[in-house]
Amino acid sequence: MTPTDLKSARAPDVHATEARGLDVLRDPMLNRGTGFTEEERDELGLRGLLPPHVLSQDEQADRVLQNLRKLPEPLDKFVALNALHDRNEALFFRVLCDHIDEMQPLVYTPTVGLACQKFGQVFQRPRGMFIGANDRGQIAKMLRNWPYQAGIIVVTDGERILGLGDLGANGMGIPVGKLSLYAACAGVHPRLCLPITLDVGTNNGALLDDPFYIGLRQRRITGAAYDELIEEFITAAQEVFPGVLIQFEDFANHNAFRLLKKYRDRACTFNDDIQGTAAVALAGIFSALRITGGKLADQRILFFGAGEAASGIADLIASAIAAQGLSEEDARTRCWLFDSRGLVVKSRTDLAEHKLAYAHEHAKIGDFLTAVKTLKPTAIIGVAAVGGTFTREVLEEMARINPQPIVFALSNPTSQAECTAEEAYRWTKGKALFACGSPFDPVTLNGQTFVPRQGNNSYIFPGVGLGVIASRASRVTDGMFMTAAHTLAHLVSESDLAQGSLYPALPRIREVSANIAAAIADTAYKQGLAGKPKPKSVMDDVQSQMYDPHY
Ligand code: NAD
Repeated sequence: MTPTDLKSARAPDVHATEARGLDVLRDPMLNRGTGFTEEERDELGLRGLLPPHVLSQDEQADRVLQNLRKLPEPLDKFVALNALHDRNEALFFRVLCDHIDEMQPLVYTPTVGLACQKFGQVFQRPRGMFIGANDRGQIAKMLRNWPYQAGIIVVTDGERILGLGDLGANGMGIPVGKLSLYAACAGVHPRLCLPITLDVGTNNGALLDDPFYIGLRQRRITGAAYDELIEEFITAAQEVFPGVLIQFEDFANHNAFRLLKKYRDRACTFNDDIQGTAAVALAGIFSALRITGGKLADQRILFFGAGEAASGIADLIASAIAAQGLSEEDARTRCWLFDSRGLVVKSRTDLAEHKLAYAHEHAKIGDFLTAVKTLKPTAIIGVAAVGGTFTREVLEEMARINPQPIVFALSNPTSQAECTAEEAYRWTKGKALFACGSPFDPVTLNGQTFVPRQGNNSYIFPGVGLGVIASRASRVTDGMFMTAAHTLAHLVSESDLAQGSLYPALPRIREVSANIAAAIADTAYKQGLAGKPKPKSVMDDVQSQMYDPHY
């Protein structure tokens, strides 16, 4: 199955609209520009409003690509793609779906990081909703201003955007980008997707001084004021959009864990930075173990970073090991965390709650190379958003103690990557089983070409969301992320592994997402969480709901 094979019942339908003339051309959900056929031009009152030559969507997509490729900088391409999104939504998604390899880094990481940093400058038209610290008491009313019935909300408060820190309201690029990926990668209908930024202020002084900053010019609200805003938002979202899936995105540590804990049993919600990352990383480890022949329970995994990504991944690994028969406690001893103050060990008194389960008995160690030499990990996973920390010495040591070390440099954007693909392969003499957060080109070393693939959440969350929507699941469970990890790992082929790729090729993403969605929906039916009877074929049901941008 290729992206272009995926026809569905939900193609944009201009024949069902009552709009005519310029109203059609100005509505990005209806507009096909020069792609309107002669018949459609008559039917919709478009004669004379368009140049006479009719282009097929294929030709339009070619023209978009040619123009895009002429632009010098990724940020220019980001802006051009946004403009296309605002003009002709189906064409935008057609280009994304058919060229996801080339487009994902433009609409999402790494370019979205830069776009968020310059959001005030590149801002052209609003997309999604901004709910501010001063909007207490009227959030439900505001949500009713959204013209569609949302099925998925991606929400951020902008405090920890990728590895870039507090970008305040400029963080809106992230929910917008994620929801584009929901539609492109899994065929969640764009009309079901609602990006939201909770503008609770920013502590980023440069933004507060920036005349073009789009957000509230005040420091972040905290404590009860913050919690009450979140509570009102969640309650209002559930009331206005019953059954809506709420994905928390890029919240800082101190809020992310507790909000997930508070709402996971009260709402249909998950935190992608914690749970989505966990599933994609675990799938990568499963692939690496297919190459080494090792067992998960025999691994020693050292995380560089001890935040949302690290604890999410460690928890899911521990669950996967426990599922093989070990106690949860034993399983957790396979994972070690290293944070900004050194190795996380029992004797430390400065540990946040989410690190405690991994604070093992051990002497304190202050530098990462010494931790590697001492613990002799089989895998290192970089999720600290500190660039260049998998140094030559670290990588050489990993290659010395392991025949095939697992090296995941997952931090985003590219500037924060722990090492490049080239460094990972070169300094381990081609032994590393490597995955990255941001994209890297293939690397040829001594005649062998390695094709590194991104351990990117975009393999997981779109399929999870589609599965939740398709089954009308009322909750998102840890079991669903475990299922997603297994499903993704099973889709990695022998030829992928032969070239060092631990994930399927990105152009297979809609097939991957459909499989994950079916597995998630299946889990929802089994766990009694689905909101409708189980269909005869869960896969057919999922696929019938996938948005197809062809016209
Ligand atoms: P986080 O803020 O929750 O955690 C960062 C952690 O790094 C903290 O525990 C902090 O103590 C630690 N840290 C900071 N400086 C350090 C230093 N000098 N030495 C050691 N540890 C240090 O962030 P997160 O959500 O865990 O994300 C971390 C990174 O992972 C980001 O760059 C993010 O973009 C990336 N990420 C990638 C993916 C993916 O799909 N590839 C998914 C999630 C997160």
